[in-house]
Amino acid sequence: MLFDDVCLSARQIHDAVRDWEREYGVCESSYWVIFELLWREYFHWAARQEGRDLFGKRLLPGSSANFLAWCRGKTGMPFIDAAMRELASTGWLSNRARQNAASFLVRDLNVDWRIGAIWFEHCLIDHDVASNWGNWRYVAGVGRDPRQCGFDVHKQAEYYDPDGAYAALWQAPALSTHPEEP
Ligand SMILES: Cc1cc2nc3c(=O)[nH]c(=O)nc-3n(C[C@H](O)[C@H](O)[C@H](O)COP(=O)(O)OP(=O)(O)OC[C@H]3O[C@@H](n4cnc5c(N)ncnc54)[C@H](O)[C@@H]3O)c2cc1C
Repeated sequence: MLFDDVCLSARQIHDAVRDWEREYGVCESSYWVIFELLWREYFHWAARQEGRDLFGKRLLPGSSANFLAWCRGKTGMPFIDAAMRELASTGWLSNRARQNAASFLVRDLNVDWRIGAIWFEHCLIDHDVASNWGNWRYVAGVGRDPRQCGFDVHKQAEYYDPDGAYAALWQAPALSTHPEEP
């Protein structure tokens, strides 16, 4: 067995990946595991400094038709709708899908990022306060990096789901310019 502890630290994973690389050589996958772990570490340390500011201003706006369409996978944007259906059905989403779903809610649907973060918190089986709220702040451009870093979700869909297989798997409704009524 590789580790004695039930709970792994990022340092243990880092060292194990480095050991693996020494034996088998550096590859794209080993590079990315370390790279992404650094993001996780970053959000955890940032959250300790943010304190309650991590969650944004106190008063939350109410729900909206755009928000409900997003939650239910009925925005009319198949790549996003598939992600939201996968999230609601399984409690999990890839990092790529999380980034696109968050960006779409904030940039295209103009919904307050905190409501999106709460929905993710409600759905995710791997919910983690620092990673979830830190990533949402980052996508919304209200974190430590104030740059607006939204995605062009049409381009992302063309690149990551060129034949629409992901959208079809989750039976996301076909592309429409107007969000359906929830
Ligand atoms: C809006 C949003 C919300 C998120 N909410 C959570 C959450 O609640 N809990 C959670 O664990 N992760 C969260 N993430 C980070 C990331 O999406 C998941 O950790 C990742 O999907 C897990 O898949 P994986 O193990 O295949 O990751 P891989 O791509 O294989 O990466 C390896 C490891 O690096 C870490 N990691 C990867 N990407 C990130 C990232 N962007 N931020 C922080 N850590 C990362 C994870 O520990 C992951 O297991 C969120 C990302 C976004 C954009």
